[in-house]
Amino acid sequence: RYQSLGYNRVLEIHKEHLSPVVTAYFQKPLLLHQGHMEWLFDAEGSRYLDFFSGIVTVSVGHCHPKVNAVAQKQLGRLWHTSTVFFHPPMHEYAEKLAALLPEPLKVIFLVNSGSEANELAMLMARAHSNNIDIISFSLPGFSLLSYSVDQELDPILLLFLLCRGAYHGCSPYTLGLTNVGTYKMELPGGTGCQPTMCPDVFRGPWGGSHCRDSPVQTIRKCSCAPDCCQAKDQYIEQFKDTLSTSVAKSIAGFFAEPIQGVNGVVQYPKGFLKEAFELVRARGGVCIADEVQTGFGRLGSHFWGFQTHDVLPDIVTMAKGIGNGFPMAAVITTPEIAKSLAKCLQHFNTFGGNPMACAIGSAVLEVIKEENLQENSQEVGTYMLLKFAKLRDEFEIVGDVRGKGLMIGIEMVQDKISCRPLPREEVNQIHEDCKHMGLLVGRGSIFSQTFRIAPSMCITKPEVDFAVEVFRSALTQHMERRAK
Ligand code: PMP
Repeated sequence: RYQSLGYNRVLEIHKEHLSPVVTAYFQKPLLLHQGHMEWLFDAEGSRYLDFFSGIVTVSVGHCHPKVNAVAQKQLGRLWHTSTVFFHPPMHEYAEKLAALLPEPLKVIFLVNSGSEANELAMLMARAHSNNIDIISFSLPGFSLLSYSVDQELDPILLLFLLCRGAYHGCSPYTLGLTNVGTYKMELPGGTGCQPTMCPDVFRGPWGGSHCRDSPVQTIRKCSCAPDCCQAKDQYIEQFKDTLSTSVAKSIAGFFAEPIQGVNGVVQYPKGFLKEAFELVRARGGVCIADEVQTGFGRLGSHFWGFQTHDVLPDIVTMAKGIGNGFPMAAVITTPEIAKSLAKCLQHFNTFGGNPMACAIGSAVLEVIKEENLQENSQEVGTYMLLKFAKLRDEFEIVGDVRGKGLMIGIEMVQDKISCRPLPREEVNQIHEDCKHMGLLVGRGSIFSQTFRIAPSMCITKPEVDFAVEVFRSALTQHMERRAK
């Protein structure tokens, strides 16, 4: 335990010296002292099953013994050089990481955060294509500040508010691509960022609920035939519209998360990305897969999220799980696109590829392989999805259960007919109740109405059983409160 600061002092310091933007979960934010694999311990020694892994970041478990040992060894050997000098951990890591990607994706740029990786990808796309515009799933024009889910919102407006929600970072540049409304500012962000409708099969106007790549399909009606997703064709028409009507006739690039994370684990119809990629390339743009949340085996069936869409991106960006919580990130591209950066004389990053990060990154890759964590994501994730789907059938306020592997969303609604988002206060209460019972989960979606579940990939089935029972209990309590 840290002995120096009590809880109240921590709150005082936070209020005075740290960001005034409230990001902390819970009425009484958690003060964490220790972590071990899928468990976290607070100042009082209470333990929590961590089903959000530091926002989808702690990929192989908190303080994993092998990763810790490697980090300690490197700590005593060499912390930092900057890329003007070479060091073996960087080259070992580059070789290992490149081996996990299909040809011709083999040139790696090491940076420090997801936003930084995406900024670099934007720069490369523009330098390579000689175009400016970059497309992402982010319907424009609506500030969320004026709307609350508690208002009687017109269903069309609701659709507009919900069918966006890309998250590619919060830096001034990437904020142009991000459109989870709560993060937007009334300031110009990201020149040349062009929005297009997110093909959200649960919320979108054409449905497509039977056409997502998940063991669980939605309760929403879907007119698509089992072997043909007509909804996908409708969303593609929208995408074509964006390409022909916006400035984006000749585009630099298109960003997509294989499954949207911050937006509440939103999935697209099967086949959508494949067609969208072709359309983008036909206009001279490059396709960028943002694997910040979906990469490193989390989706179970494949190591990278883009593989689940059967596409080959031109640029892949990654962060979070890459370092199991150590700040590091990477951009991987083809030799041809990488060369476009040579249009300037130098491109430099002080900390990118530092020895600590590279040693840790290598250890993370080894652990994923040695402990079969991708297979575990597939097996335990599917087991969990099917269990949560049963809860959806039991409770009127659980509107959708979706996702793949260990990236799961549980969307809360007022009722299954209207599917209007459950008001934030009610979702907050269920969230608090789960915490009181020792389970930590995340939140997502425009109105924060979706619970996000993305534990470390070492999670076991008995822990899933515990989590499902906690949820069942929190939902039962909530239904009782509502009935009063
Ligand atoms: N892309 C995605 C898909 C993300 O989820 C995030 C972070 N939530 C980012 C980019 C930005 O990463 P960072 O916070 O490390 O800048």
